[in-house]
Amino acid sequence: MNQIIAPCTCGKSHIELRHLPSFRFFCHCTICQRVYGKPYSDVAATHMRNVTLPAQHATRFGKYKRFMALDRGLCGECGEPVVGFMRYLPGVPLAMVPVANLGEQGASIMPRMHIYYGTRQRDIDDDLPKYEGALRSITACIAPFLASCAKSEDPPKNVAA
Ligand SMILES: [Zn+2]
Ligand SMILES: [Zn+2]
Repeated sequence: MNQIIAPCTCGKSHIELRHLPSFRFFCHCTICQRVYGKPYSDVAATHMRNVTLPAQHATRFGKYKRFMALDRGLCGECGEPVVGFMRYLPGVPLAMVPVANLGEQGASIMPRMHIYYGTRQRDIDDDLPKYEGALRSITACIAPFLASCAKSEDPPKNVAA
């Protein structure tokens, strides 16, 4: 299968994915609102080893503590999110990929839920489950996180972070 390239808006930064992530969700936490400059983030989770950062890349990392110790990688040029790495669950190293960076393929992943909905900037009129607060949000993600990682059992290749 061909690698999937997920570039930032300006194209200076990108990651490579060996397969499309399966768990897509919307996060309304205040950090996502700030980092994305939008009312919520639209991201897909996958196992870290599904993701390769090019050897030469413009992505800058900086930890934002509140959301599950997510190490967010932003493009050094355009400042847009490229990938986030999360080690919240022991033994389940996750990568978060902005769905917009996946282009048409991203649109084919069905979103599953809204989390941190309590800090939403606006109500969302859809049928997806909506979880408020850190505990409920994190709990709701655990099973899908585990499932998305179980799909990535190939041996690691040049894993970042
Ligand atoms: Zn960029
Ligand atoms: Zn968030």
